Amino acid sequence: MFLNQGRPCGWIEVVCGPMFSGKTEELIRRLRLAQIAKQRIQIFKPALDDRYEENYITSHSDQRFLCQPVRTSRDILERVNDMSRVVGIDEAQFFDDQIVDVCGKLADRGMRVIVAGLDQDYLGKSFGPMPQLLAVAESILKLKAVCIVCGGEATKSQRLTDDRSTVAVGSGEKYEARCRACFDPDFSVANSIPAIPMAKGAR
Ligand code: ADP
Ligand code: MG
Ligand code: ZN
Repeated sequence: MFLNQGRPCGWIEVVCGPMFSGKTEELIRRLRLAQIAKQRIQIFKPALDDRYEENYITSHSDQRFLCQPVRTSRDILERVNDMSRVVGIDEAQFFDDQIVDVCGKLADRGMRVIVAGLDQDYLGKSFGPMPQLLAVAESILKLKAVCIVCGGEATKSQRLTDDRSTVAVGSGEKYEARCRACFDPDFSVANSIPAIPMAKGAR
């Protein structure tokens, strides 16, 4: 438990940014340091898809860390051990709005809560409970990826399919990081195919 003037005083850290910006890597880095400091840690992620359910948070660079998948944010409260000093949460954008209260309760109990999640969805709109989490956090880090089109600093996650649901789990082939100028929220597969050049003489 972290104390301030003898009273429990934890805090909330949020790591946000687009896909591929290194949120999970940064979360894992912070958790590793906590482990080196011999602090007890627990890690949670939303259990979204049973087919790919794995008990790990995984980065695009294949770093992994053991975690507990949970269905709702309430499940986190039930599973957090009083002995834990640090609680990590990945993919927080997929949790229900109660996640804000849950993180607050853990911090009030003296825990350090590290939350990673997408700040924006594939349309460039704020994602789920992330705005509220950013508002109540003691510390915020907004990461950038590399824009796949121009090589600039990417703040957006471009969806490369015609799927219109907000939650479309996937990475490599379905999304790419883009800067504001290269981002196209109206993307459709049909429009992205280059036009066939007109045959010679066909005017
Ligand atoms: P996030 O959790 O934000 O999606 P990860 O931590 O899983 O990001 O992955 C970050 C890693 O992804 C980088 O260190 C890099 O190795 C790799 N990567 C792949 N594509 C990109 C890109 N367009 N921009 C930055 N990193 C990328
Ligand atoms: Mg991630
Ligand atoms: Zn760009």
